Amino acid sequence: MAFLRLVNVTKKYGNHIAVNKVNLEVEKGEFIVILGPSGSGKSTLLRLIAGLEDPDEGEIFLDNVKINDIDPKDRDIAMVFQSYAVYPHMTVYQNIEFPLRMRKIPEHERRVKVNEVAKLLGITHLLDKKAWQLSGGEQQRVALARALVRNPKLFLLDEPLSNLDAKLRIRLRFELRKLLHDELRITTIHVTHDQVEAMTMADRIAIMNDGKIIQVGTPHEVYNQPRNTFIATFIGSPPMNILQGKLEQQHVITLQNMTVRTKKPLDILGEVLVGIRPQHLELRAQSPGIKGKIISYENLGEELIVHVDTQIGELQVVIPVKDLSEYVIGQEVFVKPRGPLYLFNESSGEIMQILEPGAYEVNQRS
Ligand code: ADP
Repeated sequence: MAFLRLVNVTKKYGNHIAVNKVNLEVEKGEFIVILGPSGSGKSTLLRLIAGLEDPDEGEIFLDNVKINDIDPKDRDIAMVFQSYAVYPHMTVYQNIEFPLRMRKIPEHERRVKVNEVAKLLGITHLLDKKAWQLSGGEQQRVALARALVRNPKLFLLDEPLSNLDAKLRIRLRFELRKLLHDELRITTIHVTHDQVEAMTMADRIAIMNDGKIIQVGTPHEVYNQPRNTFIATFIGSPPMNILQGKLEQQHVITLQNMTVRTKKPLDILGEVLVGIRPQHLELRAQSPGIKGKIISYENLGEELIVHVDTQIGELQVVIPVKDLSEYVIGQEVFVKPRGPLYLFNESSGEIMQILEPGAYEVNQRS
């Protein structure tokens, strides 16, 4: 049995279902990221695991024990929040020592543990400072140290990096994963709305929307095999383009003035949504390609995001900056796919098929 197991966990606030029949299995030592937009139920799910909220339905098992009715303080779970919640007038040492004092651990043992965890987080030189004297990044390290000093079975992190500046956030991302996953091997659930954070930190990502977990998979899986249009457009930057296409024959998809002929017949007819990543499109001066007009671009240094207006919607195309001189705003261009095409059900948005580049060819519509 998995180390942490959620079975049909549901939480309602009045008529609103914040967490809806969630099932999730987490292995010992795994680093799981729960990713989703604001209000999707991520924090509530974490609070249910910690015992700060009681589920209306469902069961939670940790290390083979059902923990629904176990008091939060006895669950052996530590949680760190976005707001650091350090005690400002205590020293760093006293802050980290606090949970051990509460547990009546003897003084000499407390000293050893505090020093050990302070060393781990690189804050030994701060131990005698008052917490209010520290920077945001330092305070967050103290909060982490205080949570880790108890050596919990499970570590829950609720957007712990979102109050930090961009540079520090990127460094701590890397450090947190290295510390918790590679060195301490603590089972961790990390909540974020930031897809880059999820992609760079997770062993597996659980993506939530509207209280439900929509897909669980490795970063590679959720990026390359998204289950529906929500996941496809939520993971990846700029987001996947989704176009309205049509199948009049079983192996020809029409996209405005362009056709995609598949080598194998598809089991689909009629309207279809066609997804293609901006990195998998090519800008050309001639057909074949979806005809459009360049309306603007964003310069990212090495790459450009070119916005192209077409009759079937706006497309974003990523091209190398060195190609900028070939194009001007207002110019007519053709946009040609050269990567996987994702076919989604027109009404449900569910994935139906992924066409790898060798499985189709592009032509001008006659
Ligand atoms: P997230 O962490 O993904 O931003 P939350 O878990 O905080 O989402 O919230 C999920 C939904 O539940 C939201 O619609 C939120 O307004 C609602 N919610 C959360 N906590 C409470 C509460 N204590 N009382 C009422 N509604 C709540």
